[in-house]
Amino acid sequence: MSTLVEVKNLKKYFPITGGVLDRKIGDIKAVDNISFTIRKGETLGLVGESGSGKSTTGRLLLRLLEATDGSITFEEKEVTKLSTKEVKALREDMQLIFQDPFASLNPRHTVEKILEEPLIVHKKGTKEERKKMVRKMIEVVGLDSYHLKRYPHQFSGGQRQRIGIARALMTQPKLIIADEPVSALDVSIQSQVLNLLKDLQEEFKLTYLFIAHDLSVVRQISDRVGVMYLGTLVELTDAEKLYEKPLHPYTEALLSAVPIPDPEVKSQSEDVLGGEIPSPSNPPKGCVFHTRCKACMEICKKVRPEFKEMEPGHYVACHLYEEDMQH
Ligand code: SF4
Repeated sequence: MSTLVEVKNLKKYFPITGGVLDRKIGDIKAVDNISFTIRKGETLGLVGESGSGKSTTGRLLLRLLEATDGSITFEEKEVTKLSTKEVKALREDMQLIFQDPFASLNPRHTVEKILEEPLIVHKKGTKEERKKMVRKMIEVVGLDSYHLKRYPHQFSGGQRQRIGIARALMTQPKLIIADEPVSALDVSIQSQVLNLLKDLQEEFKLTYLFIAHDLSVVRQISDRVGVMYLGTLVELTDAEKLYEKPLHPYTEALLSAVPIPDPEVKSQSEDVLGGEIPSPSNPPKGCVFHTRCKACMEICKKVRPEFKEMEPGHYVACHLYEEDMQH
């Protein structure tokens, strides 16, 4: 499978200012030196607690945020260096699906207008051709053409997310960044939307970056999964491997915290991840997970572990797996 996106040593720091002169007094390290690739046609899941930097990563890829350092290559173009005009062209190929479709759909516009808008922005087709594309797309996402005359508030949450997906597909993008696309929906609707995303991926040869905090949702759709913690990537591998044989203590803890559906069975989530996630403005020295890690060693408090390929295709940042630590 060839590479569609390559991210290298990406950083996004937000300055913190303070004092009478409003001087810079620190940084919030939202994304702190991460590297990964997205292969053509795959779904790469990105998971982590809130504040882990996964949404910021998605926004950096789309150039909705400017990177502090590092590079993002999309089809051999360096995204961080594109001009405003080139960024506009990039958005035709890269689209975003939001968590809350209601907030992202203009309440005063009909669905028809909402779906036509990306085509107008990117100067695609005549009026007649655009209407035809809109009619086709509403059916592709499982709604009917009579829905086109309605307004967003007249739909259920699941239907609104279908409209959000249809809008993202209008420009025939190559990459879709889906940021918590089902977390606002009921569980039964979640799987319908996930199945729709899978079907569309096959039909339109799409590549997804699927961002979510819920590991069981990510498992249903991802080929590979990256785990983020406090702005860093701690593990990345095939979905199957990650769920069956996680290597990083944080991934292990997250997996054992996945709620068990049977209410009779007590959730194991308690006590698995002790304490709060530290502030990204003052991340722990050494391994950023060391303040919550049950396997923490002395070196973990001083030296940040490198993100390394420990087994073919399995990347981990943890001193437990470094050769010299095993002797
Ligand atoms: Fe735990 Fe140390 Fe590994 Fe960090 S490097 S996850 S503190 S064992």
